[in-house]
Amino acid sequence: MADQLIRATAADGGIRVVGVITTRLANEARERHQLSYVATAALGRTMSAGLLLVSSMKRAESRVNVRIKGDGPLGGILVDAGLDGTVRGYVDNPSVELPPSAIGKLDVGRAVGHDGYLYVVRDVGYGYPYSSTVELVSGEIGDDLTHYLVSSEQTPSVLILGVFVGADGVEASGGLLLQVLPKAAEDEELVQTLESRISTLSGFTPLLKANKTLPQIFDNLVGDMGLQILPKTQLVRFHCPCSYDRMLSALKMLGQDELQDMIEKDDGAEATCHFCAEVYQASSAELAKLIEDLRLEKAES
Ligand code: ZN
Repeated sequence: MADQLIRATAADGGIRVVGVITTRLANEARERHQLSYVATAALGRTMSAGLLLVSSMKRAESRVNVRIKGDGPLGGILVDAGLDGTVRGYVDNPSVELPPSAIGKLDVGRAVGHDGYLYVVRDVGYGYPYSSTVELVSGEIGDDLTHYLVSSEQTPSVLILGVFVGADGVEASGGLLLQVLPKAAEDEELVQTLESRISTLSGFTPLLKANKTLPQIFDNLVGDMGLQILPKTQLVRFHCPCSYDRMLSALKMLGQDELQDMIEKDDGAEATCHFCAEVYQASSAELAKLIEDLRLEKAES
């Protein structure tokens, strides 16, 4: 199944349901960054979360950045997801591997760490990003983001995330977001029914591995509560807007002396994009041209 995001509502618009499948893009992140098993799970979960969080925004340029900084060996995680379905991200220490947890799962909580912070920045695209920070709950990412949605955005929500990594790569990855909107939040019976159904789920990846589609998963959860699946299936993908030209602009900002230094000491420059691990090389001739550009700009001003 292609990577995709599907939205739905139930209970006359009182419940918002969003599901995302990120198997391919999580595998692309794994290959690009040469991620360990546990790092693949951590980054895959965070990328799914970013896409689910941005899905409620309205303006086409909207983006969400999710940054997790725990005290575990993985270091920080940063994900940037857009309403256009693009997502990119990285972890500080991609090769960290840990033994499975007591219940035989990839130990994301220990890799991320239980102490630390989760930062979410919502940017609608015209310069006033809204940011919010909460303390980590478990480092398992799904719990931490659920806590963020409930405490910081005051929306009763459940976020279920899962990544299953086999010997050949990511076999299943995705997530599910259920939110009770203000018009239904007072309906305690509805909230309780929803909670009890969610508690019967044993995670998201078993459903994907059993070849359940997102509409089938929605149907199992809230099919009898007036489920309405929005017709548009949105494709999602790993994408980074970095380019050779952007790398040159970044180098130019270092200034003439630094560029001259790179020519003399390294006979060029090499830059790696944090987000997608793409490597860009600039020759001495290209650096000399940047110096020339800077000279001309200086002479003009
Ligand atoms: Zn990049």
